[in-house]
Amino acid sequence: MLIKNAKLVTWGLPNQILEDHAVYVQDGVIAEIGSTSELEDRYPEAEVLDAGGQYLMPGNICAHTHFYGAYARGMAIPGPAPKDFPEILAKLWWPLDKALDEASVRASALVHLVDAVKHGTTTLIDHHASPNFIDGSLDVIAEAVDQAGLRAVLCYEVTDRDGEAKAKVGIAENLRFLKRTHTGEVAGGRVAATFGLHASLTLSEATLEACREAVPEGVGFHIHVAEHEADEEDSLAKSGLRVVNRLQKHGILGPHTLVAHGVHIDGAEMALLAETGTWLTHQPRSNMNNGVGAAEVEAMMKAGIKVCLGNDGFSQTMWEEWKAAYLLHKVWHRDPRRMNGADVVQMGAYNNAALAGVFFPDAPIGQLVPGAHADLILVDYHPNTTCTPDNLPWHILFGFHESMVTMTMVAGKVLMRNGELLTLDEEAITAEAKAQAPEVWERYRQFVPKN
Ligand SMILES: [Zn+2]
Repeated sequence: MLIKNAKLVTWGLPNQILEDHAVYVQDGVIAEIGSTSELEDRYPEAEVLDAGGQYLMPGNICAHTHFYGAYARGMAIPGPAPKDFPEILAKLWWPLDKALDEASVRASALVHLVDAVKHGTTTLIDHHASPNFIDGSLDVIAEAVDQAGLRAVLCYEVTDRDGEAKAKVGIAENLRFLKRTHTGEVAGGRVAATFGLHASLTLSEATLEACREAVPEGVGFHIHVAEHEADEEDSLAKSGLRVVNRLQKHGILGPHTLVAHGVHIDGAEMALLAETGTWLTHQPRSNMNNGVGAAEVEAMMKAGIKVCLGNDGFSQTMWEEWKAAYLLHKVWHRDPRRMNGADVVQMGAYNNAALAGVFFPDAPIGQLVPGAHADLILVDYHPNTTCTPDNLPWHILFGFHESMVTMTMVAGKVLMRNGELLTLDEEAITAEAKAQAPEVWERYRQFVPKN
């Protein structure tokens, strides 16, 4: 397919904006980039998608999400509002994830995947929990991702909070799915796997050891780290070590491992993450919503940590997350010089692309370059001032909106064209999810602590 008459945002180094350009896509990758007239001459027989002057850019990447959370939307938490993050876990997320069965895991994932296609998020790194439906849960999500046509990295959050037996089933689910994806054939290679761990505060020494032993070399972990100080306090009590040091002791860190949040890590923990090449993902909307503080991501980047951006199960609108990152650090530090737009792009575009490359190493991802995965979006944005590679971050932060995404393509397949979804039936998915909601909420009410 030839996508022509586009303004290309390459996210190369340096970034370029190429006017009146075209991209020729073949076999799921970008085969060639050139001027519209040049590529029209070269590929006269190609199927054409006329961008009509829209911006063509790599699809957005989400470094940390939870497809299982869609049933939290509009749900009332009984009793007084949770006063801190540990209470939010105990009163909202843990009883809600217990309420999920096979049908609701599928429905919740599909709701998020519709959101992702509509808003141009093409690669999603998910962290799944459904303690009453563990075995096979990753297959159900993979099937939904396949149906959507998106790209995803899946894992199951191993935890001791529901007892030893379920921790073991969680370990087995990760291993089974890692083995299944090892062939590179799940969803045509668009679904990869990693090993999920919930968080240090719900994992015993024995379980961490068992996970490390079970995981083959070259496979990393995906785990929440120090989202609230309770995680640090628990780790010190259990092991005498802070969370990152505890994970290091268990061989969890490294260039294939992704830790989420890191709001309460100290300087020594930052140094250890940098030294081990461990990825860290920042979720500003979630940090604000949970009132846990703001991760010191500028200091982390200065320390050499590869900081990415995720959404923690908020809407699959990554520029919203970019905007939240841009604003949060200014208000948190009461200093408008904090969180430069270029740093937001470093996290949200470059670092997320490099992280995605860990899981999909066969071709570049997140940049417009010949040979890269053809995961592309068209953005119907008409700037009222000059837009250059230098000021693009601020056009995105102040001008772009996910509703401007008109076309989403993954691996060369168009998933949405002119705003119309081609792989998913949004109306049917919403109706199915809604039909299940009363039962999911009723099960949640049975699991929620009564005090
Ligand atoms: Zn999370």
